[in-house]
Amino acid sequence: MAGKDDRSDTILHKGLIPARQALQLVLEGAAPAAQEVVALDQAAGRVLAADLAARRTQPPFPASAMDGYAVRHEDIGSVPLTLAIIGEAAAGHPFKGTIGEGEAVRIFTGAPVPAGGDTIIIQENTEAQGGSVRILEGTGRGKFVRPAGLDFREGDVLLGAGTVLDAQSLSLAASMNHASLAVWRRPKVAVLATGDELVLPGETLREGQILASNTFGIRAIAAGAGADVLDLGIARDTLDDLITRIGRAFDEGADLVVTSGGASVGDHDLVKPAMEHFGFTFSFVKIAMRPGKPVMFGRAKIGGRERRFLGLAGNPVSSLVSSHIFMRPLVRLMGGHPADAVAPVPALLGEALPENDEREDYLRATLRRDGEGKLIATAFARQDSSMLATLSKADCLIIRPVHAPAAKAGESVPVVLLRHV
Ligand code: AMP
Ligand code: MG
Repeated sequence: MAGKDDRSDTILHKGLIPARQALQLVLEGAAPAAQEVVALDQAAGRVLAADLAARRTQPPFPASAMDGYAVRHEDIGSVPLTLAIIGEAAAGHPFKGTIGEGEAVRIFTGAPVPAGGDTIIIQENTEAQGGSVRILEGTGRGKFVRPAGLDFREGDVLLGAGTVLDAQSLSLAASMNHASLAVWRRPKVAVLATGDELVLPGETLREGQILASNTFGIRAIAAGAGADVLDLGIARDTLDDLITRIGRAFDEGADLVVTSGGASVGDHDLVKPAMEHFGFTFSFVKIAMRPGKPVMFGRAKIGGRERRFLGLAGNPVSSLVSSHIFMRPLVRLMGGHPADAVAPVPALLGEALPENDEREDYLRATLRRDGEGKLIATAFARQDSSMLATLSKADCLIIRPVHAPAAKAGESVPVVLLRHV
């Protein structure tokens, strides 16, 4: 025990905080800022902000589940027998009268079962004979009648606050007679690249220039987590340009600013002073994890609202891994998504791993399923944090805790999914 504490003391001494603790600090108090009402058609993937009660009973009347004849069950004691057809009922075209003794109504699927009738004889078990119908087979009382309220009743709460609106819940909400829904507002996430060397893809590069690749991935992760994304472009390595661009983020209502690069403590690393200009205070500025050691997190109250800031490394793999580990869960919570949606899942190691050192490791790995359907995670041999091509092949990140002992193939490890397998 004492040994373990010594190790974490060493980490804290270097100003590094453990990744798990960093995540807790990032997620602390993260919640949606406000609600908005959106049309049902715009609500896919959004999160319900309030319980939703049915505005009607479904079905609103006893309805036929089949094509056939609506009858009084007491009339069909011994078959075959003949009933007089007194009318027709189709979906949207109810029969207004009442079925009396010895009578039947021709009926189609979805039509209200007329008064007096209680049972449907399917047409396959009948023979139409002009104005009458011959019933060839009997059936139980109430057969093929869907009673009123079979699905739900007015006032029933069928979708709870926090429901992520998928295809099934959208159809249900429509059937409950809601044309629009109160959902959590999507968090506005402003993304800024920093660096004098950066140019956009498609440009011709001069000597020493680098393609600004990180923010394309970061914006995609933010959007995938439910953010409304604002692109702040590329800031030059001057305090002025950083402050101008970040200022625009708050003018446009950003809840979270995410930067890439300039996050270390070099002379050109001006992101921290720029955020301090806006009153940000920092929970941490370095994490004991690999990749992604230079990650900063801060908060400030601007315009009466809490704003958050995540400063990611410039290193391409680090910036994306940190986006998955910290930004994605944060954006999800800020959008009202359930917290458990961001939890790592267990997988079995496909190959042995060596012991780990004092930094939590996030190993790029492939995932497959074995014969029993269990997830098997196999780390790439080279984990260089500059290799985007390897990262793009990774299905998950294997989490290796600080000082984890060597692990054998088949051992269970936590993984963060980068895509579904
Ligand atoms: P920095 O933290 O600003 O020193 O950046 C570390 C490394 O990441 C440098 O080699 C940068 O050129 C590179 N880098 C910074 N930002 C980006 C970006 N948006 N896309 C690709 N590489 C970047
Ligand atoms: Mg830089």
